[in-house]
Amino acid sequence: MEVIANFPDQFKASYLTVNNNIDALCDQVQRFRPKGVVVLDPEFAAACKKRVNGTTEVLSGEEGLEEVVQRDDVDVVISSLVGFAGLKPTIRAIEAKKNIALANKETLVVAGEIIMRLVKQYGVSLVPIDSEHSAIFQCLVGESGKNISKIILTASGGPFLNSTKEELQSVTVEQALKHPNWKMGSKITIDSATLMNKGLEVIEAHWLFGVPAEKIEVVVHPQSIIHSMVEFVDGSVKAQLGVPDMKIPIQYALTFPERAASKFLRVDFPRLREMTFFKPDMERFRCLGLGFDALKTGGTMPAALNAANEVAVKRFLDGKITFLQISQIICQTMEHHVSKTSPTLAQIIEADGWARTYAASVCN
Ligand code: MG
Repeated sequence: MEVIANFPDQFKASYLTVNNNIDALCDQVQRFRPKGVVVLDPEFAAACKKRVNGTTEVLSGEEGLEEVVQRDDVDVVISSLVGFAGLKPTIRAIEAKKNIALANKETLVVAGEIIMRLVKQYGVSLVPIDSEHSAIFQCLVGESGKNISKIILTASGGPFLNSTKEELQSVTVEQALKHPNWKMGSKITIDSATLMNKGLEVIEAHWLFGVPAEKIEVVVHPQSIIHSMVEFVDGSVKAQLGVPDMKIPIQYALTFPERAASKFLRVDFPRLREMTFFKPDMERFRCLGLGFDALKTGGTMPAALNAANEVAVKRFLDGKITFLQISQIICQTMEHHVSKTSPTLAQIIEADGWARTYAASVCN
């Protein structure tokens, strides 16, 4: 919303959506005067309706989301729901020929094959907002995909980069929610602490840039200044750098193929002094390896991984399971999942449902 506010002549937020945070929504309605809003939770939608008193249309539920993304007065849909919930509205938006700025990586994780096919079929653009993928996307402007020798995804390492396995056993929710560099929602912050976020990003990169798992490398870079890199066949490496601020990739996704001046913070290299890099420890952070495994198996396995992760993260946030049990639950769910290759949307939804039920039973 800050990015949109900086360019009042260029962008207008026509519709805003929330799950149930109507306090934030009502503030934004006052400030941005959208035509309509969608509140996913019907009870909160009713409360919201009273507060905006007829000046703004209020819709609710998944139907509301799927409807507004198709409206004629929408050019771009910023898909930034959390988790699997983002899939169907994103598909509806593509089918209605809307360009997509994608922050919801789970959409590509669970249904990358379908999404990329639809993007081609409907001739829309899909620009990633995820900072790593925005970096790779920017590195590839003017390049041909056949010249990529590998993609190097950088990872901050999260708050437990230097914790021992013993220390990881007693991690609290509060500790896991304290990310060193990025300020984000709770689900993605836990994913960053387990490195599942990077596992999901490996799958996301595969679909966005058409590279196999063997050509994707993850490197820990605790300063989060290099947001990712591409190595080309001639040995040249391109990187995209910037301060860790999501407003930069959000603005790029909205202005692409142009850039627009901003007042965002700049990298101060003499002050930064050094940038460091490490190999990720897949034994302490099993979720990263599970992401690679799911990509290699393909089919509905990434959907099973994602669903089990959503269930496990929710249980961890609710204080029902320990930090290390998150990866155990995902691993066990994947071991019992029978993956279907080139799945239809119905098969993906079925796999998601199965994995949620299975993961929940393991948690219990
Ligand atoms: Mg990211």
